[in-house]
Amino acid sequence: MKGDKKKKTIKTIKIDVDKCNGCRACEVICSSFHAAPKYSSNNPARSRIRVIRDPLRDVYVPVYAGEYTVAECAGRDKYTIDGKEYDECSFCRASCPSRDDFKEPDSGLPLKCDMCEGEDEPLCVKWCLVDALQVEEREEEVEEGEEQEELETGLESLADKYGMDKIKDAITRLSQKD
Ligand code: SF4
Ligand code: SF4
Repeated sequence: MKGDKKKKTIKTIKIDVDKCNGCRACEVICSSFHAAPKYSSNNPARSRIRVIRDPLRDVYVPVYAGEYTVAECAGRDKYTIDGKEYDECSFCRASCPSRDDFKEPDSGLPLKCDMCEGEDEPLCVKWCLVDALQVEEREEEVEEGEEQEELETGLESLADKYGMDKIKDAITRLSQKD
C-alpha cells in the first residue's frame, strides 16, 4: 500500500577516477554478462558502463548507464578537466534520444545498470583490477510505491519503442507459456 515504509538495500558504486587506467575490462565483462545467451559475445556498445577516455591526457572517466528519458533535457553540462573542455552530455548517464550511448545496438532499447542482478557482486567491480570501482551498501526506508514507479518507467520506455498494443500482446503470450 502506498505510504507504507519498507527497508531497501541501496548499493552505490564509488568511482575513483584517479585510479582508472582506461583498460575497459568493466565494459567487456558487462556486455558479456548481458549478452543473450549470457557470455556468448562481448560488444562494449552493449555495456551499462562506458569509459570516457582521453589517453593523451591520462584522463579516464567511467560512467554508468542511468535512467531512460523520453526527451532531451533543456539544460546541458560542460566539463573542463585538465584544461580540456569535453562535449556537452559527455558524462551524462541518461539513455536519451539525442545520442546512441546506453542503447542496445540491435533493438535501440535503453540500457540501465542493474547491478548485475543475481550476482553476489557487480562484475565490473570484480574485474577492475586497480579498485577504481568499489561497492558501498546502506539500508534505507522507502515508500512502498517506489518500486512500482520504476516498473512503470521501464514499461513506458518499451511502449515508446514498440507501442502499447505490442507490449500487451507480448505480455499475454508470456503469461500463456506456463
Ligand atoms: S576496469 Fe577499472 S581501470 Fe579498467 S576501465 Fe574499468 S574502471 Fe577503469
Ligand atoms: S554493475 Fe553490472 S550491470 Fe552495472 S555496469 Fe557493472 S557490470 Fe554492468
